[in-house]
Order: sequence, then structure tokens, then C-alpha cells
Amino acid sequence: MHINESQTIAQIITAPGKGAVGIVRISGDEALAIADALAGGSGKISRVASHTIHYGWVVNRQGEPLDEALFMVMRGPRSYTGEDVVEVQCHGGPVALGEILRETCAHGARLAEAGEFSRRAFLNGKLDLSRAEAIMDLVEAKSDGALKLAARQKSGATARVVDGLRASILELIAYIQADLDFPEDDIERLDRATYRQRAEALEEDLAKLVDTAARGRFYREGITVALCGRANVGKSSLLNALTGRNTAIVTNIPGTTRDSVEATVQVEGMALRLVDTAGLRETDDLVEQIGVDRARDIVKGADVIAYCVDAPTGLTPEDEAFIADHADQVGLLVINQTDLAEGSASASPWPVVTTSALAGTGIDDLGRALKAAALKEAPAAENALYLTNTRQVALAETALQDIRQFIAALDQGLSDDLLVIDLQHAWEILGLITGETAADDLLDQIFSQFCLGK
Ligand code: GDP
Ligand code: ZN
Repeated sequence: MHINESQTIAQIITAPGKGAVGIVRISGDEALAIADALAGGSGKISRVASHTIHYGWVVNRQGEPLDEALFMVMRGPRSYTGEDVVEVQCHGGPVALGEILRETCAHGARLAEAGEFSRRAFLNGKLDLSRAEAIMDLVEAKSDGALKLAARQKSGATARVVDGLRASILELIAYIQADLDFPEDDIERLDRATYRQRAEALEEDLAKLVDTAARGRFYREGITVALCGRANVGKSSLLNALTGRNTAIVTNIPGTTRDSVEATVQVEGMALRLVDTAGLRETDDLVEQIGVDRARDIVKGADVIAYCVDAPTGLTPEDEAFIADHADQVGLLVINQTDLAEGSASASPWPVVTTSALAGTGIDDLGRALKAAALKEAPAAENALYLTNTRQVALAETALQDIRQFIAALDQGLSDDLLVIDLQHAWEILGLITGETAADDLLDQIFSQFCLGK
């Protein structure tokens, strides 16, 4: 997949489209020489001190000026990738940027693949994997909360916690191994009760890490809310009221002719993805069956169900049947149209929120209640550190299983050589979170998820 790991690479690292400025990053052994060539061949860029900025014209191979630019020179290892890096900042038009990139390649660079700058940064010890993934999250963050979380991870908090856990595991392995290797020697030893205590502490820490994962996903991807209920209770109106009051992105679901059945709103730093599932069902044409199936899937996969009824009618047998069928999911009962009648629900297993989409009452409470309902399922740990992607979560869960097996093995009185196997596995698996023990294909997979220029 990687044609030449050591070749100098280049890519436009600013967002596509027209901006005030655009940047072409060049990284590798030839970066300075290529920058010299871009600057007209006088050799002035390669002579400058690291971490300085220089004004000049970028010229093409015929010597014709392309654009005015600032050359930012960062010699390795003090650069993003750890290699020599020159960033050429020019006017932001896609044409100018494209031409500069083309000239850069003509002088010997090749186009960087998606994530390749970060991959090199990782290989050169500039980033651990959880930080690299955090950079990806920063680029894609959907809410303020997600941004803060990604920033915290980028600072290496995940790696610190994981490294700490691994150090504890390694210490335990060392004690058991010493027992195995030097059974006669008079060295410091721990008894099995102490092994167990230490393993329990590890189990607790790992379980905490895994438990916070759901929250991490909410911050990163948002909370999916399925708006359900009979026709005409006011689902669409509630969706509009919620979006009208918040920063909203309203999107069409492809394949349906209806508009605005899905919207994402920000509630206190958290993205709520609202899906008006019944909106799909209300179509009366051939699309209907597809719509029903899709609605069912959305309800099943939703983090929170907002089941809406109208206050004048109250809960019908149909409503009660739906709620009973979905009692295992997180839900809210929304009693709308309270401007027409008083809302009450004596026997709801779900918390009740009363609203009037028409009068605009209870709408803010509804947003907050939706967020709270989702988060209640995933309580926050003190200073919580969230694993934010499924890869990290799966690894932490596996390590947790290993520690539990270790404890079970202790209780069964298994011999030392069998005991260490689970610990070694846990240690290796946790190393995959930070990339300490990562195999090449895993790296490829992770870094290829980056966008170009990262
Ligand atoms: P849906 O079929 O559940 O999506 O319901 P709609 O949002 O389309 O609303 C159905 C009808 O009820 C519309 O005429 C709305 O104007 C009306 N409606 C929605 N919410 C309220 C409310 O809170 N109070 C009153 N009085 N009417 C409402
Ligand atoms: Zn509707």
C-alpha cells in the first residue's frame, strides 16, 4: 500500500475550497531542497534556521511566478512528522494550491496518502495511537463536548492512563515470573492473596475505563433520538421547535421524498440527532414498507426513544403496547399539546416531559431531558477519560476479560506459568490502544481513516 515509505511527501493540508490562505505541507529528507526549487532555485530556503518564516515567490519550472508565499521551515525532529518539514502558505485558491502541489511533485515529492503525515509522526515517536485518533476526532468533532474530549485525548491523557495500567500489569508479571524463575532464591515475593488484591484494583480501573466508553461515544457521535408516536400528536412540530431553538442542521434522509425528518441540534455541548421515525411511516406510497423497516431499525438502534402522545387523548392502548414492547430501551414519554389539555400519565415506566410545540413550552426541558436520559445510562466517572472509538473500547474490554480470567485462575489455584498468560495478553492488548504493540496492517487501517493532509 505504501509505495515508498521514505520518499518525501506533499499534500494540501488546508480545507478544500476557497480560503484566505492555503498551505502545502512537504515532509521528508528532500523537503528543503524541494522548497528551494519552488522558491526559484537560489538555495535560500535550505540555508535558513529552523522554525523561521520566509517570504518569497513560488515559481514553476519555466521560472514563471505562481503565487506569493510564506515558507515555514521546521527541521526534524522538531516538526509534526519528525522529519524535515516545509509548509508553503499561499493565497487560498484551489488553482494556486494545486499548481504549487504539482510543482512540488515535479521536483521529487509524491502525494501523501490519507493520514500519512500522522503515520510518520507515529512512526517517529511524535504521537501515540490514541493521540493520533484524537486528532482525527478533532477534525470530525460534532459538538463542543466532543471537541473538548478530543483535545484532552490529544494531550495524551489516554496514553497516560493506559501506560499506568500496563506498568501495573508488568509489575505483577515480574513478581510471578520471579517466583517461576528463581523459586529457591531469597527475593522479595508477593503471596497469592496480594496478587489477587492487585488484580482486583486493575479490574476496577479497567472496568471504569470501559464504562465511560458509552459517554465517549455520545460526545463524539452524538445521541440518537427516535421520535415516535401516533400520527398528529406533534412529532414534526416538536422536532421543528427543538431545532428552531438550537443550532440545527436539518438533513433529508436519502431515498425518501419527505423533507426534514432528521435534524441534529446542540444541547449543552452535546449533539442530539433527532429522527422523526413516524415521518417515514406516514408516506402512503410504495416507499411505505421501506420506511416502516427503516423506522423500526432506527428505533431499535436509538440511544433514547422520545415517545410522543397528545394531552387531549392521553395514552391509548396502542401507546401502552409500544411502550411495553420497548421497555428495555431508554425512553421519555412526551406529552405534547398541553395548551389544549392537562397532561398526565399515571403508569409510565419512562420519565415524563410535558410540552406544547405550538406554544413553545417545555421545549428546552425536553432537550435537556433527552440528554440526561442518555447520560444516565452512562454515568460519568471523576475526571473521566473516555475511550472514544470502538477499537479502543474493544481492546479495553478484552484486557478486562483477561484480568478477570487471571483472578479466576488464581481462585482455581492454577500454577504460576499458566497465570502469567492472561496477564501478558492483557498487557499486549492494552499496548494496542496506544500503538505500543501495533502491527503494521493495524496502523495502515487506522491512518487511512484520516483525511488527506493529516
Ligand atoms: P405528527 O404527525 O406527530 O408529526 O404531528 P405534527 O407535528 O404534524 O402536528 C399535527 C398537528 O398538531 C398540526 O396541525 C400541528 O400544528 C398540531 N400541533 C402540534 N403540536 C401542537 C401543540 O403543542 N398544541 C396544539 N394545539 N397543536 C399542536
Ligand atoms: Zn410528522
